[in-house]
Amino acid sequence: MFNFDKKTELVIQSIAGFGAKTGVQVFFVGGMVRDCLMEIEIKDIDILIEGSAIDFVQGFALEYGKNCCDGTSCNNKEGLDVEIKSIHESFNTAKTVINGIEIDFASTRKEEYPKSGCLPVVTKTGCPIADDLIRRDFTVNAIAARVLLTENGKLKYEIIDPYFGADDIKKKSLKILHDKSYIDDPTRILRGLDFSLRFGFDFSKKDKVLIKEYLKSPDREGLSIDRVKLTLKKLFSEQERAKEAYLKILENAYFKIWQDAPSFEKEWAQRLYDAVKIFSTEPSKVFMAAVFENFRTENSSDSSHMDSKLSENASNYEIYNFYKTLSNEDLALRYAILDDNLVLHYFKNLKDIKPDFTGEDLIKEGFAPGKSLGEELKNRFKNKLNALSQRA
Ligand code: ATP
Ligand code: MG
Repeated sequence: MFNFDKKTELVIQSIAGFGAKTGVQVFFVGGMVRDCLMEIEIKDIDILIEGSAIDFVQGFALEYGKNCCDGTSCNNKEGLDVEIKSIHESFNTAKTVINGIEIDFASTRKEEYPKSGCLPVVTKTGCPIADDLIRRDFTVNAIAARVLLTENGKLKYEIIDPYFGADDIKKKSLKILHDKSYIDDPTRILRGLDFSLRFGFDFSKKDKVLIKEYLKSPDREGLSIDRVKLTLKKLFSEQERAKEAYLKILENAYFKIWQDAPSFEKEWAQRLYDAVKIFSTEPSKVFMAAVFENFRTENSSDSSHMDSKLSENASNYEIYNFYKTLSNEDLALRYAILDDNLVLHYFKNLKDIKPDFTGEDLIKEGFAPGKSLGEELKNRFKNKLNALSQRA
């Protein structure tokens, strides 16, 4: 079922072989299995270990790697190039690159949510696979594939699908695994929106009711704002989808996950979309700033520029000075949200204009170093800008 290229297949065979040798169960899980069943390209390789992922990876590096996990050279010259990039003790996970292929290893784990929307507390790692699958968001993402080797060393897989996720993939239906799931983690609503826009999935009837119920009285006391941000960032990562998602968040009142009333408007959607192209910005930066960050972008420490506007009669020099400290994302937001006609003129005609003279040039002309030299430089640049056509 998984069609890997030869290079990847060799690595997976080795991982399965080490699992068989040490008696540790190895699984593929989550998006990777979903995408395989949907017959679309797999993005990432995520391996789940029924046991300790860190122990597994370190043992694997010793047994199969050209280098030991501490970086010293072993005698295993035929071995794989195993690089352990990072380990995360509390979750018992490891990021690796094996023969140039990025592979993430996680341990099966049990989680609990002490408060609605908070980050989960891991109560156990290395638990049975069933306990791990039930902590997941949707049935379509709660499918595992046990990775095994046949007697002649070929890969084979055993699907573990206790919640009938494969059927839901066929029906394109998004179903959570227990009724409290959206209360535990309301960002699952946004993840569902992401899957609906990417794959044409839709929330099941029951899920729609549960989401409505949740949004009537959302409990934000323990909400992990960071997780909301991360989920929105992913949702807004692509221009087309960002616009669709933005409109759906308004239409379905998903903003209630983090605030009572929306601070953003339907009319901004198209201009935000256009602004991404015009100002070559990452869609997530401007869409996030519009819905969540009160117009603050990652590159700007404050959004106070959004409170002021230049007069339509401003000179090029004034326009240049007004905008010159703003990032492309700030400019994009002004374009989309304020009815700012000057920002395009600045971006297209003024932003990249450079002075023709340096202080050294003027000294060569006979100017004495000092305040008046600075004034002269400023005036020359001002004249240069103001000589350009006033508007685009
Ligand atoms: P893709 O990476 O293609 O967007 P994905 O399903 O792999 O989709 P990831 O964010 O990579 O999404 O998460 C991997 C897996 O982890 C998911 O398939 C799901 O099983 C689980 N998961 C991720 N986020 C949550 C969550 N908020 N609640 C429960 N399970 C989650
Ligand atoms: Mg993924």
